[in-house]
Amino acid sequence: VVILGIETSCDDTAAAVVRGNGEILSQVVSSQADLLARYGGVAPKMAEEAHLLAIDKVVQQALDNANLTAHDLSAVAVTIGPGLSLCLRVGVCKARRIAGMHSLPIVGIHHMEAHALVARLTEKDLHFPFLALLISGGHNLLILARDLGHYVQLGTTIDDAIGEAYDKTARWLGLDMKKGGGPALEELARQGDADSIKFSIPMRQHKDCNFSYAGLKTQVRLAIESRKICIENTPISSANPDDRSSRADIAASFQRVAVLHLEDRCERAIEWALKIEPSIKCLVVSGGVASNQYVRKRLNHVVNNSGLRLVCPPPSLCTDNGVMVAWTGIEHFLVGRFDPPPLANEPEDYLVDLRPRWPLGEEYSQGRSEAR
Ligand code: ATP
Ligand code: FE
Repeated sequence: VVILGIETSCDDTAAAVVRGNGEILSQVVSSQADLLARYGGVAPKMAEEAHLLAIDKVVQQALDNANLTAHDLSAVAVTIGPGLSLCLRVGVCKARRIAGMHSLPIVGIHHMEAHALVARLTEKDLHFPFLALLISGGHNLLILARDLGHYVQLGTTIDDAIGEAYDKTARWLGLDMKKGGGPALEELARQGDADSIKFSIPMRQHKDCNFSYAGLKTQVRLAIESRKICIENTPISSANPDDRSSRADIAASFQRVAVLHLEDRCERAIEWALKIEPSIKCLVVSGGVASNQYVRKRLNHVVNNSGLRLVCPPPSLCTDNGVMVAWTGIEHFLVGRFDPPPLANEPEDYLVDLRPRWPLGEEYSQGRSEAR
């Protein structure tokens, strides 16, 4: 089995070819970091255009690097949600064109399931059931993965995701967004004093597994304003040493509390999960923010204290990529979950299955009643 995976749900155009045994034959990502840095966020129409410009080249490159043609594939896997529908459509239409031309089955993929399951590619003895913390630009999820396609959502964010809070804070501190807000902030935080500002930890009084980052964002904004740091318009590169260290203190203090919130929630989620599935052995942490070394280190403590093991894919597989889509495609394909090949000459306006909002699994209601 060999599968091409295509990912266009947000701002990265990505494709990869992966074998059934987990061997990664190629991995190509074209990022819109420049656009993001310039416009301060993902504008759907602009992102769609960037995907349209990149998609053919990215997919061709993935096939070339794997030394294969589309003819050699077993199936095409593509993210169908959640995400921006304009962007999803670019990937899905490309996947259907290739699949139609070569009579290949299509596997429609849930983006967050892919973030979680890619850990099973890098860690061969990661078996169901396991617990997963998915932290990215748009999601903060605690998921109990009971089996392939069988997920229970223990917690989600009630407002913003942690990646969004990293990105906003980075922008307000005048960091170089071309590197990505998260990585730039992680770097600056290493030079700051994490105890200098006492931001309050979100949702301590809520005994559940949900997240909230909007309040922390506001606290950061106020801290910046009270220090009169000329944000946004003054890049950190032109800040004087005092100003710079003040920004580093804010970055470090923000990161400490943002991650403490993750630690709190993971501790409780582990308790809940062990009640439902006493045999779980691992906490998987994935999604863009999982590439952060400080996040990994802190969560490793929490997990070890609970007698579990932390499984974190390498950073290039934590941020959006085609490998996770191809791999999740393989998992589903091998148990017979796929759609038949599309028609060879499908009209461009064919109504494709897109799921911009698509929950992963059912909510855990027991948890909610216990929390009351
Ligand atoms: P979603 O998966 O929710 O649809 P997305 O696909 O846009 O969102 P990912 O690519 O999975 O997001 O993750 C991107 C997010 O990860 C961004 O918010 C980015 O700032 C954050 N991120 C990446 N690297 C780091 C890091 N080292 N530290 C903190 N955050 C990081
Ligand atoms: Fe993602």
